[in-house]
Amino acid sequence: MEREFWNPEMELLPREEIEALQLRRLREVLQRCDRSPFYRELFREASFSPEKLNSLADLRALPFTDKETLRGGDPARFLTVPLEDIVRVHSSSGTTGQATVVFHTARDIDAWAELVARCMYMTGVRSTDVFQNMMGYGLFTGGLGFHYGAERIGALVIPAGSGNSRRQIQLMRDFHTTVIHVIPSYALYLLEVFREMGLDPASDTDLRIAFIGAEPHTESLRRRLEESYGVKAYNSYGLTEMNGPGVAFECPFQEGMHVWEDSFLLEVIDPERLEPVPPGEEGELVLTTLNREGMPLLRYRTRDLAFAYPEPCRCGRAHRRISRIKGRTDDMFIVKGVNIFPMQVERVLLGILGVGSNYQIVLDTVESRDEMRVMVEVAGDLWHGEVRELNRLRKRIVEELRQEILVTPLVELVEPGTLPAGEGKAVRVMDRREYARGD
Ligand code: ADP
Ligand code: ZN
Repeated sequence: MEREFWNPEMELLPREEIEALQLRRLREVLQRCDRSPFYRELFREASFSPEKLNSLADLRALPFTDKETLRGGDPARFLTVPLEDIVRVHSSSGTTGQATVVFHTARDIDAWAELVARCMYMTGVRSTDVFQNMMGYGLFTGGLGFHYGAERIGALVIPAGSGNSRRQIQLMRDFHTTVIHVIPSYALYLLEVFREMGLDPASDTDLRIAFIGAEPHTESLRRRLEESYGVKAYNSYGLTEMNGPGVAFECPFQEGMHVWEDSFLLEVIDPERLEPVPPGEEGELVLTTLNREGMPLLRYRTRDLAFAYPEPCRCGRAHRRISRIKGRTDDMFIVKGVNIFPMQVERVLLGILGVGSNYQIVLDTVESRDEMRVMVEVAGDLWHGEVRELNRLRKRIVEELRQEILVTPLVELVEPGTLPAGEGKAVRVMDRREYARGD
C-alpha cells in the first residue's frame, strides 16, 4: 500500500514530543552558535549562556534579529562551520531593500529538500507526477528549493523558470504537466495568455495541483485559480532567511499552513510591544532555525503578519498552523488617516464577477490631499460588451471597496492585459505621494 506521509515519524509527532524535540534541537543550535563571531558577541552582550537554557521560553532572553541584522556586514560572521563546508548561497528577492544572503552546507541542502518533499507529498504529489517549476531559478529560493524537493519524491521535473508565458503553456501541453509551482499573480496573468492562445487551462492541460506562494494573496484569488485551472491550489510559505519554501504549507484540508516545528521554532509577537500574542491573535511571525547547520538564525523577525490556529488540524499533524499571510508590516499604507492593506483591496476585487486578471493601486497627492486610484483590468468578454455594463461594474467596485476600506477610491477600468505584469512578485501599490517621494 502506498504510504500516506512522506516522513511519518516527524509529521505525526504528538505535541509534547514536538516540543521536547524542539528543546533538544534548540540546545544543539545554541551550542553551535557559540562558534560564530556574531552569536558569541550577541550572547556576551545579552549575558546569555546556552547551557542554561531550560525551556523554549528561555530563548526570549535573546534579542530579535531581522533583515537589518543580516544586511549590516559580512554574512560569514553568522557561520558555525568553516567557509569551505559551505556549498550553496541563496539570496532574498530584495522586495523591501537590499537582498539578504544565506549560506548552506550540504547537510542543510539535504534537510531543505526533505522538507519540501514532505510538503509536496502531503498534498498528493507522487513519483508519477510531472512537475513544472515556474519560479525563477538562481539565487531566488523558489526555483532550486522546489526543484530538489520534487526530485527527492521522484517526480519528473521541468525546470521551466519564470516568464516566457507562451512557452510555459507549450511545455505544460508537451510534457503533460500535472503539478505547477507559480507566483499567484503570475498564474492569474497567465490566464490571459491561455485565452489569447484560444486554450482553456482546465480542459486543455493535465494540471491537477498548483503550489502558490512567494507573495501575499487572498482566498478569492486561490479559488479563482482553482476554478480556472481545474486544480487544487495550495498555499506555500517560506522566506530565504529560513531556507525558502518548506517553512509552512497547506495540507489537503486547506485550513492554514502547517509550520514544520521540528525544523523551525515559531513565535507570534505584537510588532509594537514585542511581546507574544495569545494563540489565535494576529501578530508578526518570528522564526528560529532548529535544524540548520551552516548559518542558524535566532528569533528572526519576518515582518509577516498572520495568526496561529489554537486548535489542532483534522489531518492528524500536531505541527501548528498559521493563517494565510495578511501582508508584511510594511505593506500597509495610510490614506486619509485610514490604514489599508493591499489584500483588503484584492479580496473585494476578486470577489466581483467581471473583474479580470490584474489590478494596481496608485496613490497620489492632489491639491495636498491623498488620492487613491484603483486600476482594474476587466474580464475579456465584458470589455467588448456594453458601456452600461462597465459603468455598473465600476460603481459596484467603488461601493464594495468603500465598505471594506472606509475610504472612497477612484476606480478606473482598463483593458485586459494592459497593466504591468512582472514575472516576479507583483507590485500592488504605487505610492507617488509627495512625502513618499521624499520631497
Ligand atoms: P524578500 O523578503 O526580499 O521578498 P524572499 O524571496 O525571501 O525575499 O521572500 C520571502 C517573503 O515573501 C516572505 O517573508 C513573505 O513576505 C513573502 N511570502 C512568501 N510566501 C508567501 C505566501 N505564501 N503568502 C504570503 N507571502 C509570502
Ligand atoms: Zn493539516
